[in-house]
Amino acid sequence: MISEQTLRKLKSLEARKLFVQIPEGLKMKALEIAGFLESKGFEPVISVEPCFGACDLRENDAKALGCDAILHIGHTDFGLKTTLPVVYDVWRSGFDPVNVLKHEISNLDGFGSIGLLATAQHIDAVRNLKAFLKSRGKRVLTAKSGALQEAQVLGCNYANAVKIGKEADCFIFIGSGNFHYSGLLESVSKPVFFINAEEGSMKLIKESRNRLAVKKEMRIEKARGLKTFGIFISTKPGQMHTDAAENVAKMLRERGKRVVFISADMLTPEKIMGMGIEVLVNTACPRIYDDQKLFGIVILNPDDVERI
Ligand code: SF4
Repeated sequence: MISEQTLRKLKSLEARKLFVQIPEGLKMKALEIAGFLESKGFEPVISVEPCFGACDLRENDAKALGCDAILHIGHTDFGLKTTLPVVYDVWRSGFDPVNVLKHEISNLDGFGSIGLLATAQHIDAVRNLKAFLKSRGKRVLTAKSGALQEAQVLGCNYANAVKIGKEADCFIFIGSGNFHYSGLLESVSKPVFFINAEEGSMKLIKESRNRLAVKKEMRIEKARGLKTFGIFISTKPGQMHTDAAENVAKMLRERGKRVVFISADMLTPEKIMGMGIEVLVNTACPRIYDDQKLFGIVILNPDDVERI
């Protein structure tokens, strides 16, 4: 449930009406959260718009509804500036990976220095894992970069992995779902073991870096022969990269491509269906990159455009 620290922060703001953003994975707890906040004297308004990260702060919605503050659950501060106060409640999972690792420790034979990484809700698990690995004679590496917490990774930010990428012999990543795989593999060259908190299992990520590189090369090659490029700019405050979009447009125009800027809060295939866009350049959340099949057109990241 909401932490004592979060409640103290909300009280110190003298906030009463709260605009509450909840990630998809916690929506089933929305009524419970609302009831808890009401019992503490707050008036919650639960936003049911999809929320995948703290990049997605719906300040305008909160203001329009007359809220005193935003309570953003499940994510850490992304460093966005707002005029309305925002309180982040990370919602720790309570998952302890030590039991999982105890059964899999032989997989780490031959790896002396181990880099630890986790998504925000599993950061506490890193502490437990660190102590366990040290007790088994391993050297443990973690990093803290910018607004990220120690050892934290985001799907759009692997700086904590890159920072220790040279020293680590391998990485252990604690998370759930498949979203972080490809970004992590592209960011570091060492083996990555994935502790899946939902399944309570550990496996070596077998997705081959070569395969990812070949798939990327094929997309770029296909885009070279196509004419009409849509450059997607999200209206989510932490995903709105207008400078990157302008740079991409300039490069594409120099290469004789037809360019159109398109904008949405969250882009889904049906929103651009029938427009005739042949290649989508995504300047927003990298999650879209993994949805090539759903969109049915080539999707590129801004970096890919330099190679067209
Ligand atoms: S941009 Fe995407 S990966 Fe980055 S924090 Fe937002 S939802 Fe997560």
